[in-house]
Amino acid sequence: MIGQNFYHVDHVQCRKCGKVLDQSKILELGDDIYCEVCFESECDLGKNRCGYCNEEIFGDLYIKALDKVWHPNHFFCSYCGCKFSEEQPFFEIDGKPYCEEDYSRLFSKICQGCNEVIDEDFMSAMDMHWHTKCFKCHVCDKSLCDEAFYCIDCELYCEFHYQEKENLLCAHCNKPVDKRYVFALNKRWHPNHFFCDFCKTVLYTNSGFKEYKDKPYCKECYIRLYG
Ligand SMILES: [Zn+2]
Ligand SMILES: [Zn+2]
Ligand SMILES: [Zn+2]
Ligand SMILES: [Zn+2]
Ligand SMILES: [Zn+2]
Ligand SMILES: [Zn+2]
Ligand SMILES: [Zn+2]
Repeated sequence: MIGQNFYHVDHVQCRKCGKVLDQSKILELGDDIYCEVCFESECDLGKNRCGYCNEEIFGDLYIKALDKVWHPNHFFCSYCGCKFSEEQPFFEIDGKPYCEEDYSRLFSKICQGCNEVIDEDFMSAMDMHWHTKCFKCHVCDKSLCDEAFYCIDCELYCEFHYQEKENLLCAHCNKPVDKRYVFALNKRWHPNHFFCDFCKTVLYTNSGFKEYKDKPYCKECYIRLYG
């Protein structure tokens, strides 16, 4: 029972804080007596407050979860607002419920390289994440943490292997071509690196060249050698 009584004893103390109570200010809760402040807070503890709206919940229609109670219509994913069910379990972060999808998207990072959860240092690029140890060239394993990197189909490449993959390297010197290049034999060449494999005369695609085993030759050499 909750009520107010007068005590005819000299030293009545608050059950909780031990304060000696003025006889006119004794508040009773069950068998215990409290000062005004402690009475309020004790009463409050007994109340069911919704973890979402913090309003009192009356009756026994509520959801008990995450050490709190919730209005049934106030227990939903804190991110997308979807309701939980057996097929839609909830996950907790900082006392708030999240659906599985948002939980994993928002709070657990999956390494693009090894597909394991990231709980240490990581690198991010284009909305993807990698363990620092996994942030390396797909071809040569060189760490790209301090290097220029390229991402093709979620795979990382160092500059060299990116250009190789994208077919941007000169077929002769294996260095990147720039805007002016010759495209011949399905490869790119520095203009001055597209020459006859035998006499080294620079060839121009429009002047005609001959191909033998993937190598370019001027007409004269081709006829002399293979003609
Ligand atoms: Zn007290
Ligand atoms: Zn509520
Ligand atoms: Zn959600
Ligand atoms: Zn990894
Ligand atoms: Zn590489
Ligand atoms: Zn070249
Ligand atoms: Zn030649």
